[in-house]
Amino acid sequence: MMNTQHAAQQFTQATRRAVAQTERRAVIRRNIGSYHQKVAEGKRRYANWAAARDRAAARKQQVLAQWDRYLEAFEANVIANGGRVHWAETAEEARRIVLAIARQHGVRSVVKSKSMVTEEIHLNAALEQAGIEVVETDLGEYVCQLRGEPPFHIVTPIMHLSRQEVAVTFRKKLQVAASDRAEELTQIARQRLRAAFLRADMGITGANFLIAETGQIAITENEGNARLCFSGPPVHVVLAGIEKLLPTVSDLALFWPLLATSGTGQSLTVYNSLIAGPRAGGELHVVLVDNGRTRLFAAGEQREALRCIRCGACLNICPIYQNVGGHSYGTTYQGPVGSVITPWLRDDDDWSHLSYASSLCGACTDVCPVGIHLHHHLLANRRDAVARGRDAWWQRVLFRGWLWVMQSPERYRWAGRLATWAGAVGLRGPRGFPMPVRRTFRDWWSGQR
Ligand code: SF4
Repeated sequence: MMNTQHAAQQFTQATRRAVAQTERRAVIRRNIGSYHQKVAEGKRRYANWAAARDRAAARKQQVLAQWDRYLEAFEANVIANGGRVHWAETAEEARRIVLAIARQHGVRSVVKSKSMVTEEIHLNAALEQAGIEVVETDLGEYVCQLRGEPPFHIVTPIMHLSRQEVAVTFRKKLQVAASDRAEELTQIARQRLRAAFLRADMGITGANFLIAETGQIAITENEGNARLCFSGPPVHVVLAGIEKLLPTVSDLALFWPLLATSGTGQSLTVYNSLIAGPRAGGELHVVLVDNGRTRLFAAGEQREALRCIRCGACLNICPIYQNVGGHSYGTTYQGPVGSVITPWLRDDDDWSHLSYASSLCGACTDVCPVGIHLHHHLLANRRDAVARGRDAWWQRVLFRGWLWVMQSPERYRWAGRLATWAGAVGLRGPRGFPMPVRRTFRDWWSGQR
C-alpha cells in the first residue's frame, strides 16, 4: 500500500517537473488548441447541443437508478448470443480471469485495442509475466508501449509527443531508419502490427458501451485495429467497467455522435462496431469489472461520475491538466474526472490530494457531454477527505482560527489590523500573493466620516 503523504508528494514533485518543461507544454497547447477548434465546429452541427447533453445525462442516470437490472439483462443476453460473462470484483480477479482463459487456450500472443480498463487493472504486465506476448495495436498506445510509458490522456495517449519524438522512438526501439513523416511512421507501425495480428491467438478489447437489451458490445475507434483484434484471433476477451451500460441499441444514435464530438470533434468516429456473439468457430468472453465502481456508487452524490463516457473533454479544458500533463497524476484516469473517481476506484491510497488540483473554475462541468457536475464533486471529495481526517494538522488549526476570527466583528477588525501591519513590515504571501494594503477599508471609511 502506498503511503498517502508519499503519493501527494510524488504528485507535487511531478507537477513541478512538468511545468518546467516548456517545450513539452507547447506541444500539448498546440494539440489541445486544434482539438478545441474541431470540437467547436462539431458542436455547431447540433441543432441543440444542450438538449442532447440533457438527454444523455438522463439516460445514463436511468441506468444507474436500475443498475442491477440492466447488468443482469446484459449478462443474460450475452449468454443467449453464445458468449460467456465473468464478474470481477477487483483488478486482481479480472487479471486472474483473463490469464485463466489464456492458459485454457494455450495463448502465446495477444493483440489488444485501446482500453483504459485494461490499463486500470495492469493487465499487460500480468500477461507478460505469464510469458505471453502482448501487442498494443492502437497507434498511440503502440508508441506508449514502445516507450514503456502509460497513456498521457484517456483518448489521445501520445498528445504530448511531437512527430519528431515518435520518429526517434521508432528508430531506437524498432531499429528502423525512419524520417519524421507521419505517413512513413504509420506504414512502419502498420507492417509490425499486421504481423502481430496474424500470429495472435487472442484479441482483447475494451467496450465503449454495453447494450442491455441485446447483449451487444459497442466499440468505436478510428484505426480499424479493434476490428482486427476481435475478428482475427479465435478467442475474443472484452474487458469493461460495469458502468458502461446503455438500455437499448437505439441509444447509440445519441451516444456515438456525442462521444465522437466531445472526444475528437468528429461527427462520428470512423469505425463503429456492434458485437453480438463470438465469431464463427470462436469464443467470446466478457469480463465485467467492478474494481471500486460500486464503492463510488455508495459514495452518494459522487456516483454521478459513473455516467462518464470517457470522452476526455474535461481533461482538455482543464487549466491544471494543460499545465501539469497526464503523467503527473500517477493514475489511470487523469484530469477532473480522474481526480473525482480515483479516490473511490483505488483503495491503495487516499488519492484525495488530486481533488485539490483544481481551480474550481467549473469549465469541466460546462463541457461534460453527460452533465457531470465535476467541480462540485471535487469539493465533495475534499469534504469527505476532511471527514475521514485526511487533512493536515496545520489545515485544521488554520481553518479553526479562520472560523474563530470570522465569528466576531471585533476579532475580524483586529485580524485586519494584524494583516496590514504584516504588509507594512514587508512580509509577503506565498508565490508572490499580494499582502493586504497598509490601510484597512474600515479605517479609510471612518476617516471619510
Ligand atoms: S467526466 Fe464528462 S467530460 Fe470528463 S471524460 Fe467523462 S464524459 Fe467526458
